Amino acid sequence: MAGLATPLKGLVGGTTAGSLLRERGIATVGDLLDLLPVRYLGHEAHLSGLVVGDQVVVVARVKAATTRRMQKRRGTMLTATITDGTTDIDITFFDARAHEHKLLPGARALFAGQVSEYRGRLQLAHPGYTILPEELSEAEVAQRGPIPEYPYVKKLHNWTLAECVRLVLDHLDDLPDPLPDEVRAAHDLPDLTTTYRWLHRPDDLHQVERARERLRMEEALVLQTVLGRRRRARERETTRRRAAGSHGLLAAFDARLPFELTAGQREVAATLAAEMDRPTPMHRLLQGEVGSGKTVVALRAMLAAVEAGGQAALLAPTEVLAIQHHRSITAMLGPLAEGGMLSFGDEADASTRVVLLTGSMPRRARSAALTEIAAGTAGIVVGTHAIFQDVVEFHDLALVVVDEQHRFGVEQREALRAKGAEPPHVLVMTATPIPRTVAMTVYGDMETSVLRELPRGRQPITTHVVPAEKPAWVDRTWERVGEEVAAGHQVYVVCPRIGDDGDDEQPTGPAEDAPALAPPAAVLDTVAELRAHPALAGRRIEPMHGRLPADEKDATMSAFAAGDVDVLVSTTVIEVGVDVANATVMVVRDADRFGISQLHQLRGRVGRGGNAGLCLLMTGSEVPASRERLEAVAATTDGFELARVDLTQRREGDVLGAAQSGRRSRIRYLRLTQDEEIIAAAREHATALLAADPDLAHHPVLRERIEHWLDDERAAFLEKG
Ligand code: ADP
Ligand code: MG
Repeated sequence: MAGLATPLKGLVGGTTAGSLLRERGIATVGDLLDLLPVRYLGHEAHLSGLVVGDQVVVVARVKAATTRRMQKRRGTMLTATITDGTTDIDITFFDARAHEHKLLPGARALFAGQVSEYRGRLQLAHPGYTILPEELSEAEVAQRGPIPEYPYVKKLHNWTLAECVRLVLDHLDDLPDPLPDEVRAAHDLPDLTTTYRWLHRPDDLHQVERARERLRMEEALVLQTVLGRRRRARERETTRRRAAGSHGLLAAFDARLPFELTAGQREVAATLAAEMDRPTPMHRLLQGEVGSGKTVVALRAMLAAVEAGGQAALLAPTEVLAIQHHRSITAMLGPLAEGGMLSFGDEADASTRVVLLTGSMPRRARSAALTEIAAGTAGIVVGTHAIFQDVVEFHDLALVVVDEQHRFGVEQREALRAKGAEPPHVLVMTATPIPRTVAMTVYGDMETSVLRELPRGRQPITTHVVPAEKPAWVDRTWERVGEEVAAGHQVYVVCPRIGDDGDDEQPTGPAEDAPALAPPAAVLDTVAELRAHPALAGRRIEPMHGRLPADEKDATMSAFAAGDVDVLVSTTVIEVGVDVANATVMVVRDADRFGISQLHQLRGRVGRGGNAGLCLLMTGSEVPASRERLEAVAATTDGFELARVDLTQRREGDVLGAAQSGRRSRIRYLRLTQDEEIIAAAREHATALLAADPDLAHHPVLRERIEHWLDDERAAFLEKG
């Protein structure tokens, strides 16, 4: 008898075992059983009424067979006519010798293949088949149930593979089951051994469905138990409580705010304040559309941390954004950011200092920043990845705010946590709406808050798709840009490419479906083009991209923020966070090069200041799916709806891949678009399971799976370096 770890060699034929190992890395019984059929064929098919492309599985008898030498190739070819009693069809094999002794006239077999056409006649080329013993009745054959079709393995007939799996199943021991009995019972799911039988040799398709359901539940449970253990470990961590008083820095800031917080902002703010005032570190994800006011809420939490004697770090995904955050936070704080400069009376309590830390800062400024961070005089540190470096030492890091989580990995988050003497509270902000299923899997170890309403006074953004193949439309677009500038407003033009020598800045969006004819629009070309355009004569048009020197970037952004630049032609560096209220129009060139969420993010840059926003998506793509994607973006401004559309258009692996910042996905069976119920149920089971049996002492098989999963994760992390 065999278990999952039993080697295939010796159990199945040497050639078959060899092919499986070479082509698919399949060495054990478990490996083979995990090779799941992609489809199942019913064999009620008859030979009448077939058309090219049909998959048939049929019991038929060989009527005639001839072997002849081939003219253009070596070897002999076998052509046979088979019949189901009423209809005939030809079958052909290019290697007659392997078949001529089996497919003799009169032989009865189960044939499986795809219908093709040769010289006007339908045929099955190289069908899989198995000769049926005469004593086996047609009825018994019919009872065999759906025939599995496996992923293609070179040099192995599907039929041979299926027979090989059947053989292995015949020798299978009862397998230890990682899915606890109570979970199985609650959802009426088969045990592991039955699951494999139902997948590989089902009586009907209902069994297949149940078995697949069970695999998804198992995967979801393993995942949720991993996350559950992480949550529990975190809950046992202790840290310092950080609460603001009612007369200090935070109150002074609130008094300065030129607007009222929305109800949603107040609610989230209260949650953050309560969680930071606990001895357990906060670990929260804040989702909200671009412009929903996340940054203001986060800043309040940072001020509370500072007021309570600690420091706060705000991590931005790019240098441009870090600079922008630093500037806007400093401006919002006004005199409150001038701590240490006014050194009399109580003023010192009600102020702090905000420092910037990025990779490309001049040495002097950098070492000054490091000194302030280490001394604790810098209450708020805004920066990029540079904050992770070992030389950066905080005096007392109390709160870490991460802007735009999707660009940071879990490991980096952990590295920052390690910078506090006690674990800091953590707040992650994202403007990319995360569907519930993804929140429960990828971010399953965090609590979530959502800001749903936009602050009052925000204007709707209208979006249109502009066909780039129509010169009149393109011209009209630039004229529209000219009119907007004439009206005193500013415009973004976004391009997928920089267009200098070292061009490699490609968008992360789905470009593979776009046949690459011309290279996509470039920033530098567009700047030249627009400067020469009559509609924009005399306007100030400047480039912006990641390879500009830091001081130039900074100067351009400052000039744009001050209204001294009319049109900013940029790569996606302006994707997130950049906030210029006077910018009202955005043109995206070759918009099909960007993903749905990315476009949604981008257009959130306009319509921020009480003026209506307009977004024009230019595209020359003739790929229908690309146009559909753009039309979807034009049709709604509901980020959650777009996230859903996005999710259904991408493969699951891509979704997770992106969310896990490039880490390889270990999710095989779960479908993030559809399996919300399973994931939610698994989360509940995992929580209950861990409450009763924290170390899984009574669930050794599940524990083993989890350790395996964690090993994979560690391996992936080390691979990444
Ligand atoms: P997000 O970080 O979610 O993109 P921000 O916090 O940057 O949003 O806010 C976007 C803009 O809206 C900023 O100019 C901010 O000052 C402003 N804002 C934030 N909250 C409110 C509010 N409650 N009422 C009016 N304006 C607000
Ligand atoms: Mg923001």
